[in-house]
Amino acid sequence: MGEGEGGEEPFLDLPNAADVVIIGGGVMGASTAYHLALKGCKNIVLLERTSLFGQEATGKCAGGIRYQFSTEINIRLSLLSLPMLDCFEEELGQVIDLRRCGYLFLLTREEDGKTFQDSMALQHRLGVMTEWLSGDEIRARLPYMRLDDVLAAVWHSRDGLTDPNSVVQGYIAGARRVGAKCLTDLEVISIRIENRRVCGVLTNYGEIATPIVVNAAGPWAAQIGAMAGVEIPIISVRRQIAVTTSIPQLPPDFPFTIDFAQSLYFHREGPGILTGMSNPNEPPGFDQSVDREWELIHFEAAMARMPLLENVGVNSRWAGLYEVSPDAHPILGKVSEADGFYCINGFSGHGFMHGPICGLLLAEEILEGNAHTLDITSLNLNRFREGKPILEYNVV
Ligand SMILES: Cc1cc2nc3c(=O)[nH]c(=O)nc-3n(C[C@H](O)[C@H](O)[C@H](O)COP(=O)(O)OP(=O)(O)OC[C@H]3O[C@@H](n4cnc5c(N)ncnc54)[C@H](O)[C@@H]3O)c2cc1C
Repeated sequence: MGEGEGGEEPFLDLPNAADVVIIGGGVMGASTAYHLALKGCKNIVLLERTSLFGQEATGKCAGGIRYQFSTEINIRLSLLSLPMLDCFEEELGQVIDLRRCGYLFLLTREEDGKTFQDSMALQHRLGVMTEWLSGDEIRARLPYMRLDDVLAAVWHSRDGLTDPNSVVQGYIAGARRVGAKCLTDLEVISIRIENRRVCGVLTNYGEIATPIVVNAAGPWAAQIGAMAGVEIPIISVRRQIAVTTSIPQLPPDFPFTIDFAQSLYFHREGPGILTGMSNPNEPPGFDQSVDREWELIHFEAAMARMPLLENVGVNSRWAGLYEVSPDAHPILGKVSEADGFYCINGFSGHGFMHGPICGLLLAEEILEGNAHTLDITSLNLNRFREGKPILEYNVV
């Protein structure tokens, strides 16, 4: 619930002015609010249009955290972000169910072998000690999976899983403790721009004057951009997940396993398995109903890989939205079209894990002019106009 009163009456608590307004209460908005407040920024207002924080892309995500990327900037984001999850409980007093079960990419195509070996060389140079396993080694490791066609696999033991909702709740509570106002049931309807400067936002309960707006609206980032006259090249694409009933034969240390060619993944979820498979033909859109036709294709592929699934039921299923940028990298930082408008968008299916560091980097950019923990110039929106995309290969 919001801090103010819900329902038809205006929020008594809705301030009429703020130093920063953050639009969106998923991991990006929550982390940005916390890090801004921690750095002493006063009068931050975070607005979430639904009744709970973190229930959109963040709450629907698979919770995977990994160092295994193909570009230097994504690996560096992981190198900074994942250790923040290690000390999350100590820093924020919130348990986040962190499990270092490792990530295993199964490779079945010759061409992936070369690309993953190049990525491994880059990862090793940056201190991420991924391991190459032969087809026979991986078959011996996972005897309960059908892996005859697997040529090789890449393994990293420090990758793993954590609970997205707990991370959001931790940041929201932490931000509130240091003075930020985080409000639900408040939808931003328009953004006021004068002389190419942000001046305020209009919500369903009234206006807030502000010189700074953070677009943390996830799959809806392009719509928020349009309100400020900023074209943000992000599309939303449906992705779905199912969680099975108990599979007692599955070892507790079963890794986050990805059949890369099929974009098919599995990880332990309670006593069962969480599995997803990305539909390459899914059109952009905001439909979040479960596509039963695709589910059948997914389950068939999942059972072929893991025959244990033939004898289990489905406990729950849901669909969520990826917020996809043209090069599968985030759009992070200020924009040139409107002073005071900042983006933290476009994480393309692997944003949850980078939420901690990206919130900190954006707070630095807003308060100190530039991010200094990591140079994020390459992630600026301008890269698309300048023809400088940075392509990520390890997209699931
Ligand atoms: C099925 C699935 C699996 C995934 N698996 C992983 C994974 O294993 N690991 C990983 O790192 N990432 C994963 N991701 C990606 C990850 O979930 C996202 O990159 C990340 O959560 C994006 O966070 P966000 O805060 O930008 O977006 P969101 O969590 O969607 O938050 C945006 C918020 O903005 C609000 N909003 C929108 N418009 C307005 C408005 N006008 N006014 C007010 N509020 C507004 C929305 O209600 C929403 O709550 C997965 C995503 C999906 C869908």
